[in-house]
Amino acid sequence: MSTEKLGDQLPTENIHTPLILELEENLLSCYLTNTQITTKSKHHDGVQVIHPVQGIDKITGFLVIDSPSFIQKDQDMAAGFMRIYYNWSQLIYDNERDTLTALLNRKTFDAQIEKTLTAAHSQRKRNEDIEHFNCLAILDIDHFKKINDKFGHLYGDEVLLLFANIMRKTFRDTDQLFRYGGEEFVVILTNVTEEIAMSILQRFRKQIEAHVFPQVGNVTVSIGFVMISEQNLPSTILEQADQALYHAKEHGRNQVRSFETLQTEGKVNSEVTYSNDIELF
Ligand code: GH3
Ligand code: MG
Ligand code: MG
Repeated sequence: MSTEKLGDQLPTENIHTPLILELEENLLSCYLTNTQITTKSKHHDGVQVIHPVQGIDKITGFLVIDSPSFIQKDQDMAAGFMRIYYNWSQLIYDNERDTLTALLNRKTFDAQIEKTLTAAHSQRKRNEDIEHFNCLAILDIDHFKKINDKFGHLYGDEVLLLFANIMRKTFRDTDQLFRYGGEEFVVILTNVTEEIAMSILQRFRKQIEAHVFPQVGNVTVSIGFVMISEQNLPSTILEQADQALYHAKEHGRNQVRSFETLQTEGKVNSEVTYSNDIELF
């Protein structure tokens, strides 16, 4: 990474806050050069060595060793630990993600949905912000099979990859994005009302509709969503979002449907049956 690029990524307060001491300057220098920095210790006659802690795509921290003297063997060992940490982070990252799109995979979804429900439950208990909830949406590309059939699997894969990129650009960093299955994606929007969820998802749907995919041309997506209630089981939430998606597919595709609204209008079955492996579109 170039120095300029790293500088661009630095949070501005790191550069501008007057509270930066000499140590912070050394950290900054370590950050900018992505190399180990050795300086005189501020506390005694010894040395201070700062090692960058390399995360997946950026430096995520520093290991600072203050010692009476510089011992190469110890510093090599510390640098070795940093490499082990990096490899370990990389393994975790790969394990959580889908190889094609790098979105979180279904296994991660299964592990995280419980936590999302628990968080909803404790927020409800504290009676905080009761108007805003998390929302689960299922996004399913329309007639994806035809894309594969007409242009081949490789172009199909490229559509999936570009679709995931548009997801990353459209949704907020706090939203969780998953590739749930072949051409099915799940998004958990945090802290939204049903109305806001609808407008965020409509914006995404329109972005897909407007995007011209190389060779393939125009692609559309159908979306079903449900507001997450802490009383519900993950399977119920998925099934409700899936019912809304089914409605979108049945009524012309390229649209967003809310389970709650459909329920109010009596257009979906409120009695959901337990299913652990929903057959999505
Ligand atoms: P609908 O509008 O009803 O959703 O129709 P569809 O064609 O999108 O849905 P269907 O479930 O019939 O087909 C999904 C297709 O997605 C079938 C499968 O071959 C394809 N698919 C699944 N995973 C991948 C993948 O990783 N890459 C590619 N290229 N295709 C995939
Ligand atoms: Mg589909
Ligand atoms: Mg599908």
